[in-house]
Amino acid sequence: MEERKVAIIGSGCAGLTAALYTARAGLSPLVIEGDESGGQLSLTTLVENFPGFVEGIQGPELIDNLRRQAERFGAEFRTGRVKRLVLERRPYRLELEDGEVATQAVIIAAGARARWLGLPSEQALIGHGVSSCATCDGFFFRGRDIVVVGGGDSAMEEALFLTRFASSVTLVHRRDQYRASLIMLARAQANPKIRWITNAEIVEIRDVEKQEVTSIVLQDTRTGRRRELPTAAVFLGIGHIPNTNFFGAALETDSDGYLVTRDYVFTRTPGVFACGDVQDRRYRQAITAAGSGCMAAIEVERFLQEHAAG
Ligand code: NAP
Repeated sequence: MEERKVAIIGSGCAGLTAALYTARAGLSPLVIEGDESGGQLSLTTLVENFPGFVEGIQGPELIDNLRRQAERFGAEFRTGRVKRLVLERRPYRLELEDGEVATQAVIIAAGARARWLGLPSEQALIGHGVSSCATCDGFFFRGRDIVVVGGGDSAMEEALFLTRFASSVTLVHRRDQYRASLIMLARAQANPKIRWITNAEIVEIRDVEKQEVTSIVLQDTRTGRRRELPTAAVFLGIGHIPNTNFFGAALETDSDGYLVTRDYVFTRTPGVFACGDVQDRRYRQAITAAGSGCMAAIEVERFLQEHAAG
């Protein structure tokens, strides 16, 4: 079986930063790229809030740069995903789709994926007016009327944030009861730029042919009646799903499936660290993911210095 000092699960901002640091420490990391190589940044367009890029940088270009930077110092990449992480004893074992890897330390940077509605028109317009990241894309809709979907805290937070740019934000929710905390709901209700549509589901986002969002088709959940609402953008605020299903009960997760860490990046298993969105429900930014990737890499280096190979 192939043996490694460190394996990194995930190739988004967190995983690639961890790869850069462990590679520069001479640990020859192996990065398992996962289903979505490059993570969520590879799905975005212009990134204007990653420090150091005066004019911003395209998400895929930033990912490509990080990857090449890590490769320059000896990081290796493997496509595919980890089916199972076996943590009974060191060396730990990664079961891949096409083989197994034994490793002395593991960095879990598997990320989280935004929950989408699952409409074909939505998928076709991601990056063209459909977004799951208000912080990333809100700026592009200055002075426009836009829509946010969801009834939880994320939707309230996104809607409030987007009122800084948009001339109006319409919150579309599938029920008439909100899951959001009272304080967030009250804050949103007090904002005159926010409009409210309840008991409605989006059944189509137009206009795929033009490759820009021009309107949504709403269906009333009680009557089934449909109507069209013009909008320049649709922001999804219906939650995130951390990618934590490959380690079963071996590591601790919270009620929403996020990997639980202490002191930023430590899991409960020695030599297994976690960084980025898989363990961060609070910030979920490229720069915070990169920062925690750096922390995980430094802890791996320390761990391997202190613990002989198992
Ligand atoms: P959430 O609480 O699970 O809310 C998700 C919302 O999206 C719900 O209103 C749900 O509708 C709706 N939804 C889910 N799937 C849908 C679909 N397919 N179509 C239409 N609507 C759909 O998720 P969240 O808002 O991301 O919050 C997650 C956790 O993070 C919560 O504990 C929250 O308090 C916390 N959080 C806190 C803050 C803050 O305090 N600043 C900010 C963000 C998140 P239903 O209600 O009908 O199920």
